Amino acid sequence: MHFRNILLTALIVTGLTACDRAPQREPLVLQGKTMGTVWRVTLAGVDPQRKEALQQAIQQQLDRDDGEISTWKTTSVLSRFNQYQGTEPQPVSADMADIVTLSLRIGAKTAGAMDITAGRLVNLWGFGPVGQPAHQPDVAAIAAARAETGLSHLRVIQNVSGQWLQKDLPGLYVDLSTVGEGYATDHLARLMEQQGITNYLVSVGGAVLSRGRNASQQPWRVAVQKPTDRENAVEARVDLQGHGISTSGSYRNYYELDGKRISHVIDPATGRPVQHKLVSATVIATTALEADGWDTGLMVLGTARAKALALKEHLAVYLITKEGDGFSHWMSPGFKTFLIDKS
Ligand code: FAD
Repeated sequence: MHFRNILLTALIVTGLTACDRAPQREPLVLQGKTMGTVWRVTLAGVDPQRKEALQQAIQQQLDRDDGEISTWKTTSVLSRFNQYQGTEPQPVSADMADIVTLSLRIGAKTAGAMDITAGRLVNLWGFGPVGQPAHQPDVAAIAAARAETGLSHLRVIQNVSGQWLQKDLPGLYVDLSTVGEGYATDHLARLMEQQGITNYLVSVGGAVLSRGRNASQQPWRVAVQKPTDRENAVEARVDLQGHGISTSGSYRNYYELDGKRISHVIDPATGRPVQHKLVSATVIATTALEADGWDTGLMVLGTARAKALALKEHLAVYLITKEGDGFSHWMSPGFKTFLIDKS
């Protein structure tokens, strides 16, 4: 039987504590849908009369991002790049050049575990717009998709006259799903700044960023969820201190096929969904985009290699690993500096 249980967000804003219950204005909460998931913006100290205009500006920004980097929309800039069966440089926006540059850099640091050129593998296993396969892909199909995958086949060209993406394999298929939510979250933060708003918590899917204080003049609190199907079970709470946070997990975005659980996190080295016991990786970084790029790479690497890389790169990381009937957790020294408490 097929089913796909999609993680909307692995991060939640926690409730107020007793000391938060000072006199306060109500926060302004806006939300909507984008990129196959939900967005949410919570604002403190903002005139409620601005709600409609802000809602519109946010949705327009997200629609622009979707029209640029979606592999689900055949007309997006990225889809047109993927459809292009040549090797000449193709013009892209500065933002698009930046997201690809950062993704390639994180890809190299994870030794190719995070690979935005793995789109053919993602589609083969049914996590792209194509839909789920009736049976597990065979060895030949996996090998064919792997032959059209690899960070070294994609480059960004940037100079005074513009920026371009270039592939040296005509069939290369770039998938920015792993960083798209972080990219869009950073854009919402930028939009809030442009609107003169300094106290906000913005999220798209599993990527979150906050600045300033909440309506009770307290730091925004974000909770990492426990790896269960139960909503809102809190594993740990953090104060982001103006940073971005993102979680990648294998426990909610999967389906079952031929009696096996198929995770949406694909190991480009094998061409297959990961099988190890690391169930979620949460990263806090300067931007939500950066956090969103690292979390998938760490998920691919598995617990031991993810720990080693987090320490080497001084990343703020929280890992949850399946151990028998329960779970174990690990946090890097960098993550501890953001921790409020842990259940
Ligand atoms: P993350 O853990 O952040 O990333 C995992 C995803 O990255 C996988 O699902 C796969 O796509 C890809 N991936 C897997 N392995 C690797 C790897 N080794 N290296 C790099 N990438 C890898 N979904 C819909 O159902 N309908 C839509 O219309 C839709 N539109 C979208 C538009 C945009 C612009 C984006 C960015 C995504 C869209 N999605 C859509 C996808 C969806 O909402 C999520 O982005 C997706 O499910 C992954 O998000 P995540 O945070 O759960 O996973």
